[in-house]
Amino acid sequence: MRKVKTAVVGAGPMGLICALDLLKAGHEVDVYERDDRIGGMSAHFDFDGLAIERYYHFICKTDYPLFDLLAELNLSDRLHWTDTKMGFYWNGRLYKWGTPQALLRFDGLSLIEKIRYALQVMKTKSVKDWSALDKIGALPWLKSWLGERAYKVLWERLFHLKFYELSDQLSAAWLGTRIKRVALSRRNLLHESLGYRAAEIDRGLGAMLEHYATGFTAYRAMQWGDAEQAFLKALQAMPGDGPSAMYVERCRAFGQTPPGADWDGVWTLTSK
Ligand SMILES: Cc1cc2nc3c(=O)[nH]c(=O)nc-3n(C[C@H](O)[C@H](O)[C@H](O)COP(=O)(O)OP(=O)(O)OC[C@H]3O[C@@H](n4cnc5c(N)ncnc54)[C@H](O)[C@@H]3O)c2cc1C
Repeated sequence: MRKVKTAVVGAGPMGLICALDLLKAGHEVDVYERDDRIGGMSAHFDFDGLAIERYYHFICKTDYPLFDLLAELNLSDRLHWTDTKMGFYWNGRLYKWGTPQALLRFDGLSLIEKIRYALQVMKTKSVKDWSALDKIGALPWLKSWLGERAYKVLWERLFHLKFYELSDQLSAAWLGTRIKRVALSRRNLLHESLGYRAAEIDRGLGAMLEHYATGFTAYRAMQWGDAEQAFLKALQAMPGDGPSAMYVERCRAFGQTPPGADWDGVWTLTSK
């Protein structure tokens, strides 16, 4: 095969994979990027030492091609999983979302609408061939499952805010694959689990975040001793981490003077 000199314009995920494939095929590649970093929309920025993605990105349990790529690049140990929580803001109130109990407790849908919603998710999770759904629009597909009213409650605003005038041009297959991907990314029925690439793992960020999440759960459950230990471990993983140090102080203060039973998780400053 003749070696070809190639140029790739743009170092987003597409350009980088394209460059990798060209290299693997034995060609010479130059990548041109106008930004000051690679990664495109999935790039990170430095938030005072913390690497945060420009746009909210997550990895799901069924992203098998990505796992293969990470293994190929020897980056599998950078992939971490965490239980995530979802909320749904409706009618001036934030509802828990993403579990069967949350659906049952949601005030915005009738029982029949809830059943229709659950059936749609279950059916979508089992779809393997998307070609039929690719011929219909996402909006008619949603409305046929949920009904007009439930569609308005659950989806209308989201479509408007994300796609504006293009809302009625999306394929049901596109939306269905997204629903299936997220619906299957669970540790069990009750816990959604999403992956993230700990970019700063060498500096202890991944471990710090895991201890921090444990500490925060214990803190909200008013288990001050457990929370303090977890935040101390977070500090060990990343010395000098400001939020962990702050929560250690709060746990100690609450350990001595616990808040009332109606505590809503908010720390109230009593002096400056
Ligand atoms: C809010 C949000 C959330 C998302 N969440 C997810 C997610 O959870 N999971 C997921 O898989 N995907 C997600 N995506 C989609 C994902 O970010 C994109 O699919 C992916 O970034 C597309 O890669 P790309 O290389 O095609 O384009 P881009 O990421 O846009 O990269 C294009 C690159 O080309 C450069 N460029 C453009 N023109 C030139 C030029 N003339 N010269 C030199 N350089 C140039 C740009 O600077 C940029 O770096 C999300 C996107 C958004 C906006």
